[in-house]
Amino acid sequence: MLEIRGLSTRYGASHVLFDVDLTVGEGETVALVGRNGAGKTTTLQSVMGMGGIVRTGSIRVGGVETIGMPAYRIARLGVGLVPEGRRVFGELTVEENLRAAVGIGRRAGSHGKGEHGESAWPLERVFEVLPVLAEVRGSKGAWLSGGEQQILAIARALMTGPKLLLLDEPSEGLAPRLVETLVEQLAAVHRAGVAMLLAEQHAGVVRELAGRVHVLERGVVRMSKGEPG
Ligand code: ATP
Repeated sequence: MLEIRGLSTRYGASHVLFDVDLTVGEGETVALVGRNGAGKTTTLQSVMGMGGIVRTGSIRVGGVETIGMPAYRIARLGVGLVPEGRRVFGELTVEENLRAAVGIGRRAGSHGKGEHGESAWPLERVFEVLPVLAEVRGSKGAWLSGGEQQILAIARALMTGPKLLLLDEPSEGLAPRLVETLVEQLAAVHRAGVAMLLAEQHAGVVRELAGRVHVLERGVVRMSKGEPG
């Protein structure tokens, strides 16, 4: 699903990632761990092709080379990013937040379809996989707990029908009970067949969800553990 080889990433003059190799198989969950500033966010942004960064090396998604591609085209290959810090619309209900995610995609001309024909998830499928959200579907984003907001951010990414989800520290700032709910819901996303690359510092979350772990240290993969799943 994702094959990164010899990736180097720079922000202008600042060189952040050095010769990173990393793979995520179809439907597999892989964790990227490391201290603050190790380069986890930069790795996810490199895969997504975010603006302002220069990438060299190879990043293949479903066998397609994405170096040089803009983010919207990488998204259409079936990649979804759940950025750090939730960013839900507080004034919109859960359901409206989800509809807005696909609506915005449509206005951009994607019609909810990826380049390889995968469809956006229907709202009801999202609620089926993430039942915690179904219970609060009429509530405004601002009223949700931190955990529910995080799950809403994940659901919003699922609406576009990704094959690979990139998650940036989803457990950050959540109380332990909410982390447990998050883990349950991410396990359900895994069972639904979506591959995940999970940047995460919470050891419990990594242990519960990831078959393989890559340790990043100052922009270099220092260690990789586990068998390809
Ligand atoms: P955190 O958990 O704090 O987000 P991280 O492992 O995700 O840490 P990154 O955010 O990828 O790390 O940052 C890696 C390095 O890149 C850091 O040294 C950071 O200062 C640098 N960096 C990040 N964003 C930029 C930017 N826009 N311009 C220049 N340097 C940046």
